Amino acid sequence: MPNVVDGFIAAVYDECLRNRDGALADYIPELDAVEPDSFGICIATSDGYVYEVGDTDVPFTIQSISKPFTYGLALGDRGLAGVAEKIDVEPSGEPFNEISLDPVTERPRNPMINAGAITSASLITGASASDRFERIRATYSRYAGRELAINDSVYRSEARTGHRNRAIGHMLRSFDIITDDPDQAVDTYFQQCSIDVTCRDLSMMAATMANNGVNPTTHERALSTELVERVLSVMTTCGMYDAAGTWVADVGLPAKSGVGGGVLAVLPGQIGIAVYSPRLDEHGNSVRGVQACRMLSRELELHFLHVP
Ligand code: GLU
Repeated sequence: MPNVVDGFIAAVYDECLRNRDGALADYIPELDAVEPDSFGICIATSDGYVYEVGDTDVPFTIQSISKPFTYGLALGDRGLAGVAEKIDVEPSGEPFNEISLDPVTERPRNPMINAGAITSASLITGASASDRFERIRATYSRYAGRELAINDSVYRSEARTGHRNRAIGHMLRSFDIITDDPDQAVDTYFQQCSIDVTCRDLSMMAATMANNGVNPTTHERALSTELVERVLSVMTTCGMYDAAGTWVADVGLPAKSGVGGGVLAVLPGQIGIAVYSPRLDEHGNSVRGVQACRMLSRELELHFLHVP
């Protein structure tokens, strides 16, 4: 006999399943080749219980949902002040792959746009490029509570076609935001975007954030408590591409989405939510992901400004 939450998630799932709006990302063939109708919803509590419905074990690439996690690792490596010298925390109001810096500060405006995310990747410490990527992969794995791996064919496609991101890398180098090899930072960014996750993994990653940086099932720490607050703040203002304002108004949770079709949201101290459905809206956010999170937030009263 399903409990109330299971029944409620199943109702949200059934409602959103009918929605076939949106289109797959198609800038590389691998993203265009996924099953468009895949759909999963997971809610993981901050003590490790997972409610799930649908395709919660289908792997897909994390893409831009990687950005907050690498930013958190960079904060741990370089400190708040060290990272702030290089990356601001202002919403940009510009496309995520804009080839520009803030004209006044000459820094990327925030870590959720590509310029900021490539800078985060450049700030990860390690003896070599492969060392740095391994630290990123191991960190994401700690959040997820299992070993995550790179999807090689997605990585190769990203690397073959990613001229715009390379242009951003070289712009960052010319402004001394990146001080060593920009191609290596961009390559690390391509690799992090190509890590495979499932909807269940993303919900555990979100629940680890909700649990102040400690994975609720393995009890391993992925991020220090003081840095969780910083990462969630930036997700709140900048996490949903150019729909961040509407998202905060409608859903009211720190969140991040990626063009692979994943959406992750965090209710601090309580739960992590993840939705996977690869058809995207005009902003690059999963259509069903946004719809499901809106319904969950409204019905379960999750908006962080909700007064009971
Ligand atoms: N690898 C993609 C890019 O940077 C990530 C896109 C995304 O999820 O926003 O172009």
